Amino acid sequence: MKNRYLIVGAGFSGCVLASRLTALMDCDVEIWEERPHLGGNCHTKRDESTGVMVHEYGPHIFNTDKKEIWDYVNSFTEFRPYVHRVKAVSKGKIYPLPVNLHTINQFFDRSFTPGQAKEFLETLADKTITEPQNFEEQALRFIGKELYEAFFYGYTKKQWGCQPSELPASILKRIPVRFNYDDNYHSNIYTGIPVDGYTAVMEKMIHHPGIHLTLDKKFDTAADHSSYNHIFYTGPVDAFFNYEFGRLGYRTVLFEKGYAEGDFQGTTQMNYCDEAVPHTRITEHKHFTPWEQHDRTIYFTEYSKETTPSDIPYYPKRLAADIELLKKYRAKAASQNRVSFLGRLATYRYMDMHHVIGEAIQFADAFVSSTKSATAAPVFPNEEKF
Ligand code: UDP
Repeated sequence: MKNRYLIVGAGFSGCVLASRLTALMDCDVEIWEERPHLGGNCHTKRDESTGVMVHEYGPHIFNTDKKEIWDYVNSFTEFRPYVHRVKAVSKGKIYPLPVNLHTINQFFDRSFTPGQAKEFLETLADKTITEPQNFEEQALRFIGKELYEAFFYGYTKKQWGCQPSELPASILKRIPVRFNYDDNYHSNIYTGIPVDGYTAVMEKMIHHPGIHLTLDKKFDTAADHSSYNHIFYTGPVDAFFNYEFGRLGYRTVLFEKGYAEGDFQGTTQMNYCDEAVPHTRITEHKHFTPWEQHDRTIYFTEYSKETTPSDIPYYPKRLAADIELLKKYRAKAASQNRVSFLGRLATYRYMDMHHVIGEAIQFADAFVSSTKSATAAPVFPNEEKF
């Protein structure tokens, strides 16, 4: 008899896992997704009124340094070249982000060469901070107070709802600082946007006779799942345990939709860095697909807020109290029988798509080897150093 597996959640983790398991073993896979669509927070859909492909849960740009991941996603659909160039508004002026030579010269009204800009920023850096312990220290150490306050303090406070000093330095390390005029927001080798959107990629991933997807289907931990040989859970780890120890902190995003004729802001993403402006950014999605023509445009103004039980969790906060809860949930998860926890929500990490996909491939491979060698299945794809 074939093994039967249940995957909870049809985002990239669940879809990659389903695709890989059925490619490596003769098995049946059920995917349950509680939302009415595939794709998790990467879900894309054409807007009926403008025809623009909309990233329904905020902008997603595919980036990776790994050729095997790039080849893997391109095996499902065509990705077209797209370079993300972000603009930022600070005190009424517009600058390029990430901070690069243009930003530095414009902000300080100078004409520095790369070497001069580097030396200048060294004079602004707080050298008393030797090993930055948090977001704020990381910023003060590497770009100094002026640029930190102009571009990062207000935005981060709005985005995360706390002081930047409470956040890990890793969040700021996502964004490079450059002493040349390269204004690509990402530094990865491969970058692009799928021509038919991300949902189409996932539809292709799970197009297999052994995979069956059910939408609008909520998972209940307490129900009897004994007919499955194993469960792969990609939802929030605290929800799996019915929030027994309390809720992990997440930020969620509210999107205010707007329409305009022609071009609304001239670029995909405009960040609003001043604390006094309530929104964090405006994204205009037709600029993700410059190869398409649309007379009208659709844009989304983003507001960040704390997640209530009815909101969709976006960004894991990972404050000290959350980490304490995570320890308890991970310990409890490890004591489960025949359940694995995978992906952004089940591992409670801020992950990019390439990271999620790479981890799901590796996890499927590890699971299949454990099945073949009749050894214990892995519970999590990652270790946490608490
Ligand atoms: N950030 C900021 N100002 C900006 C852009 C980003 O302070 O104009 C900070 C903010 O804390 C944000 C983090 O950098 O959460 C990471 O930014 P990224 O653009 O990677 O965020 P994402 O697109 O994942 O929301």
